[in-house]
Amino acid sequence: MIICRSNSELHAALASLGAVADKTATSDKTHVGFVPTMGSLHAGHLSLISQAVSNSQVTVASIFVNPTQFGPGEDFESYPRDQHRDLDLLSGTGVDIAFLPSVDDIYPTECSTPVLADRSLSSCLCGKTRPGSHFDGVATVVDRLFQIVQPSSAWFGEKDWQQVQVIREMASSLHPGVKIESGPTVRDHDGLAMSSRNAYLTATERFQARSVPRAMQTVIELTPTLGIDRALEAGRAVLSDAGLDCEYLEVRAAETLVSCSDSATSQSRDGLRLFIAARVGDVRLIDNTSLSSTHLTQATRPADSSAAALAA
Ligand code: AMP
Repeated sequence: MIICRSNSELHAALASLGAVADKTATSDKTHVGFVPTMGSLHAGHLSLISQAVSNSQVTVASIFVNPTQFGPGEDFESYPRDQHRDLDLLSGTGVDIAFLPSVDDIYPTECSTPVLADRSLSSCLCGKTRPGSHFDGVATVVDRLFQIVQPSSAWFGEKDWQQVQVIREMASSLHPGVKIESGPTVRDHDGLAMSSRNAYLTATERFQARSVPRAMQTVIELTPTLGIDRALEAGRAVLSDAGLDCEYLEVRAAETLVSCSDSATSQSRDGLRLFIAARVGDVRLIDNTSLSSTHLTQATRPADSSAAALAA
């Protein structure tokens, strides 16, 4: 695995692997798979990386804690960072290049035009409650990373479903040559979605956090008999009984993120998704699932061995 700490090192490494970062795409261009992360790697990241490695000739994973997607008062400064551990984990994945750019590499002063995320996708759910323009920051950093890495495909986690929709929309206009892939959410043994921010939880909070997948399971199970609105009420009760502060628990159309309630939807529940954000103490947890999922609170174990070892 080649470790690159600047754009020039990355481009030299790609060239040495026969994958020159170049806009002139040809049909026999080397397939470069890309997984952007903010580090503090866990089994969810490793599962995406494993999918990228299996489907690419050259795989790049980046670690960059992106300042522009954190709002005022959020956890940019304290976000967990451990490069040694991350590089150790990456070296066992088959990734060819670990890219750890500096802020100046991603945001050089001569190239500072931000990308505005599609408002129909970015203003609801997390866009309502995260201060500043969180999804503009996400769209901007992914655009910059795509310009630098020039991938053929890029992998993102369904754990951040709204983010995937924002990125798909951004890429369809700014990077039509990049195939956006998504991977399923990797969960812990009790159903809690893996997240770098889970490291903030105390033992008591970690126990309380189990109510997030339980609330989702409750909504899934009750919707067929009670309908969406009353099932959501029951889900909110699960959260409040466990002492969590519910920021949102909503059903929306999976791709457009248009809000759905019993009165507003006559469509099949297959196309609907349940979204949740809740706070336990100072820690904000998000998750989502198809409304037709089953057995959410049974862990979705990662398939590959390095991810499975981390999840154990
Ligand atoms: P982050 O480092 O949090 O920015 O995440 C990097 C990528 O990993 C994003 O595409 C996330 O959606 C994805 N990811 C985070 N948690 C999980 C998870 N539990 N399962 C699958 N993918 C995840």
